[in-house]
Amino acid sequence: MKKTKPSWEARPHTAFAYSFTPGEFRYFLFGKKICPSCGGKLQRQKQFFSTRGALPGTFRQEEMYFINTEKVKYYYYTYACLRCGQVYPLRDLAERAR
Ligand SMILES: [Zn+2]
Repeated sequence: MKKTKPSWEARPHTAFAYSFTPGEFRYFLFGKKICPSCGGKLQRQKQFFSTRGALPGTFRQEEMYFINTEKVKYYYYTYACLRCGQVYPLRDLAERAR
């Protein structure tokens, strides 16, 4: 029987990274986690997506020699309102907070 390589989807991740813009990082640390539509408390949720190869600018050039970017796991955050259930990507909240 021929051994087949597992599909890319089934393979484990080879690297991981957090993708934050400076504004997102500021909100993540210091922003008021309040729902923009109802004023309820927001709860942080960790999410991720996977890419074949690194996204531009997410690893430093010198890091690229050491990491295998075959399947990179990118973490990102969303915030869900505990009162109205609305879910906001961190990017949207960071932009409103400017
Ligand atoms: Zn709300």
